[in-house]
Amino acid sequence: MSDNPYIKKLVRDDVRALSAYHVPNPGDAIKLDAMENPYQFPPELVKKWLAVLKQADLNRYPDPSAQELKQVIRSAMNIPEGMELLLGNGSDEIIQIIIMALAKSDAVVMAPEPTFVMYKMIATFCNVGYAGVPLKNDFSLDMPAMRKIMQEQQPAVIFLAWPNNPTGNLFSEADVIEIIESASGLVVVDEAYTSFAEVSFMDKLADYDNLVVMRTVSKSGLAGLRLGYLAGSAAWLNEFDKVRMPYNINVLTQLSAKFALEYVDVLDEQAAKLRAARTDLMQALNDIDGIEAFDSAANFILFRIENASDIFSCLKAKNVLIKNLDPAGGALANCLRVTISTPEENTAFIETLKTCLS
Ligand code: PMP
Repeated sequence: MSDNPYIKKLVRDDVRALSAYHVPNPGDAIKLDAMENPYQFPPELVKKWLAVLKQADLNRYPDPSAQELKQVIRSAMNIPEGMELLLGNGSDEIIQIIIMALAKSDAVVMAPEPTFVMYKMIATFCNVGYAGVPLKNDFSLDMPAMRKIMQEQQPAVIFLAWPNNPTGNLFSEADVIEIIESASGLVVVDEAYTSFAEVSFMDKLADYDNLVVMRTVSKSGLAGLRLGYLAGSAAWLNEFDKVRMPYNINVLTQLSAKFALEYVDVLDEQAAKLRAARTDLMQALNDIDGIEAFDSAANFILFRIENASDIFSCLKAKNVLIKNLDPAGGALANCLRVTISTPEENTAFIETLKTCLS
């Protein structure tokens, strides 16, 4: 706590009570904590990409609406005809844009829990209520509890990560549809992990006035660019666009993403390799006595293990960085999350884990 008297007087109490989103410094560790794609573009494409970047006008502001990039996203990602796109500096920024636009004084943001922590954090920054509805023990949606909160609190927006982070599962499609159909507010289906799940609500956008679909390029190989996109009707996106900072997608990101998405087949191949590696890693985890690994449709696996925090520290000491969810407690007690990587890194993780257990 700062002893600067201005801080206590001026900074909102709820902001002072928060902790900043903590990202550990990986050093030279095998980095399996942040759902990054371990693969890079082949060298000949890197050469072409650098040639493209040479043309960047760094002295000019970027195209504020990133029209050319949107066009490329539209075709690479099969955005349905008639739907618009809004781009964000990561999908984190899109969550912020949505909540800011809906932040009336009595607004409530709802999400199942555990889920991606930024929904709650951003609701707090924006000074709106937040209703977290615990998932069932098998991490499926607790529909009676969801219905109850929807009725009682009429959330302005419901975030459903599909697949969910950190649990990795896809909620039942019928449950998600019931939520969209019975919600009095907006439903954001967050498809951050769509490359690994290969299912989508994108084709249902036209069916519902209260549905938007959010995605990111972060998990499929372009995390460094910070680019997320929201697909939905012009009616919603025109409103959200008003609270978006005009130049939120910088020149280098616009050029790089446009280039990379022209080669989306390279990213798709990498995702396919990671999906195959997921099956192997799942098997390897389940073969270890005392580990319960949960089915995943994403590029990470959540698993439960006794003394998880100690195992996490042991892995870290041996230069393997994964995510410790044990401190969150509740359903995540004794849970760790590992990002799927190359076969070599996955094997290194499993071997190190075994040494930590022996
Ligand atoms: N949604 C979900 C479900 C996530 O897990 C994440 C990242 N962990 C994000 C959104 C944010 O992704 P980004 O800001 O990198 O686009």
